[in-house]
Amino acid sequence: MSNRKTNTDVILIGAGIMSATLGTLLKELKPEWDIKVFESLEKAGEESSNEWNNAGTGHAALCELNYTTEKSDGSIDISKAVNVNEQFQVSRQFWSYLVDKKLINNPQDFIMPLPHMSMVQGEENVQFLKKRHEAMVKNPLFKGMEFSDDPAKLMEWIPLIMNGRKDNEPIAATKVDYGTDVNFGALTRMLFEHLESKGVEVNYKHKVQKLKRANDGSWEVVVHDLDGCKAKYYNAKFIFLGAGGGSLELLQKTGIPEGKHIGGFPVSGLFMVCNNQEIVEQHHAKVYGKAKVGAPPMSVPHLDTRYIDNKKSLLFGPFAGFSPKFLKTGSNMDLFASIKPHNLTTLLAAGVKEMSLTKYLIQQVLLSKEQRMEELREFIPNAKSEDWDIVIAGQRVQVIKDTEKGGKGTLQFGTEVITASDGSVAALLGASPGASTAVHVMLEVIKKCFPDQHKEWEPKIKEMIPSYGLKLMDHPELLQELHNSTAHTLGLSEKEPVLS
Ligand SMILES: Cc1cc2nc3c(=O)[nH]c(=O)nc-3n(C[C@H](O)[C@H](O)[C@H](O)COP(=O)(O)OP(=O)(O)OC[C@H]3O[C@@H](n4cnc5c(N)ncnc54)[C@H](O)[C@@H]3O)c2cc1C
Repeated sequence: MSNRKTNTDVILIGAGIMSATLGTLLKELKPEWDIKVFESLEKAGEESSNEWNNAGTGHAALCELNYTTEKSDGSIDISKAVNVNEQFQVSRQFWSYLVDKKLINNPQDFIMPLPHMSMVQGEENVQFLKKRHEAMVKNPLFKGMEFSDDPAKLMEWIPLIMNGRKDNEPIAATKVDYGTDVNFGALTRMLFEHLESKGVEVNYKHKVQKLKRANDGSWEVVVHDLDGCKAKYYNAKFIFLGAGGGSLELLQKTGIPEGKHIGGFPVSGLFMVCNNQEIVEQHHAKVYGKAKVGAPPMSVPHLDTRYIDNKKSLLFGPFAGFSPKFLKTGSNMDLFASIKPHNLTTLLAAGVKEMSLTKYLIQQVLLSKEQRMEELREFIPNAKSEDWDIVIAGQRVQVIKDTEKGGKGTLQFGTEVITASDGSVAALLGASPGASTAVHVMLEVIKKCFPDQHKEWEPKIKEMIPSYGLKLMDHPELLQELHNSTAHTLGLSEKEPVLS
C-alpha cells in the first residue's frame, strides 16, 4: 500500500441512510473526529434509500401483517411488532432532535402523517385480523388501532378499494391514524448536507476497492476516484461498511472471521405507480395485505399513498423479481463473485431449502403487465391498465447464514450487523425493516464498536433519544409525552388524533 495515505478517524463507505445516520450520530457524540465518506455514485441516497427505490413506509408495525404470527394455540404473537415499533420510536426521537436543534429543517420534506392499515379478505383472515387487533390494541404502542368489518365503515376509510367490489367475500381492516410516509432519499440528502456543513468530507464518484488491516489494527483503504481515474489511499481507526448491497463484497475483502460463511441472495422489486391524479386523490393510507402462500415476507402487497417532491402519488407493489445484481447500479456478476470457498456449502444448502422461493421469484419475473394489474385489482377492483406505469425499485440482498434454529444456509429477512471482535469495522447487511430502524441499528453499532466511549456518551445519547435504554411499552406516560412532542416537532400532529 502507498505511503501517501491520508489518515482519518472514521471512514463511512456508501452514502445511504445508514451511513448518513451513523455519521450524524458520531458527529454529535464526538464533534472533533475527522470523518470521511466515499460513495461511488454522483449523489447521496441514490440506491435503496432513494424515494423511488423503497416503499417509504415508516415501519412501526402498525400495518405489516408479517410482523405478527398466529401460534399453534390460536393466540397471536406480537413480540416482533413490539420490537419494530420500539425501534421506530427511536428514529422518531432522533429526527425530532435534529429538527429541534435546527440541524435539519422542513420535516415535511421527509416525513408526513399517513394512516397505516391492514386489509384482509375471506372469513379465516377476517377472524385472524380481529384476534390480532384484540392482542395489539391492549398494548400502549398500538393504542387507538381500530378494527372494522363493516362495509360502510370501510367505504369511509378506503373508498378506492371498496368501490366496484362485486364479490360478497368478507373483508376487514385495521387502521392507525398516526402512521407515517417517510422520504428516506430526502432525509439521506438532508443528513449529508448537514454533515458537510460540519466539515465531513463526502467524496462522490469514489469507489472503495480494497481494505487491509494495518499492523497497528487500523484499516488501510484503497479508493478509486472515478473522475480522476486514479487510486487514493486512506487509513482509519474505524470503518463502517454502509454500502447496501455492496457491503457483503467489502466485508469479504476485510477477511475478518466474522464475515465468513455468509452469503447474499438478491431479490429485486418493482412497483406500479398511478399516473392519474384523479385516482391518486381518492386514496389516503398505506394499506398492507397478506403475503401470498410461498411468497417471501418482503413481497407483501400494499397500496400506498406517497409524498414525493411535494406531490401526492399512489404506488402498488412490490412485485419481486430476480436479478443477480447486488445493487440496482451493480453488475450481473455480483452474485457469482460473492461465492467463496468459505460460504459455498452455506449457499448450496440455502439453494436446496429455498426451492419454493426460487420458483416464486421466477413466476414473479414472468408476470405480464396485465397479470400484475390482476393483482392490483384485488386492491382496486376498477383499476385500469392505462392509469398505471411500472417503476423499478431497489435491490435487496437477503443474508444467508448458518443458524442454530434454521441450520445450514438459512435465509434471513432482517437486518444483520457484523462487527470485527475489536470493533474496528462494522458492516450492515440485509434490508428489513430497513431504513425506518436505522437509528436503533446504528446505536447498536456504536455500542458494539465503541465500548470504551459508550458510558461517557450515554448522557448525550439520552439527550437525543430520551427513551434510550427503556422499553416505551413499559412507560406509557413517557410514550405519550414523546409521541406528542415528536409529532409536534415533525409536523405530524395536526392530521393525527392525539392518543389518549
Ligand atoms: C423494494 C424495497 C422496498 C423497501 N421499503 C422500505 C420501506 O418501506 N421502509 C423502510 O424503512 N425500508 C424499506 N426498504 C429498505 C431500505 O430501503 C434499506 O434498508 C435502506 O435504504 C438501506 O440503506 P443503506 O444505507 O444500507 O443502503 P443504500 O441506500 O443502498 O446505500 C448504499 C450506498 O453505498 C454505495 N456503495 C456501494 N458499494 C460501494 C463502494 N464499494 N464504494 C463506495 N460506495 C459504495 C451505493 O452506491 C449506495 O449509494 C426497502 C427496500 C427495497 C429494495
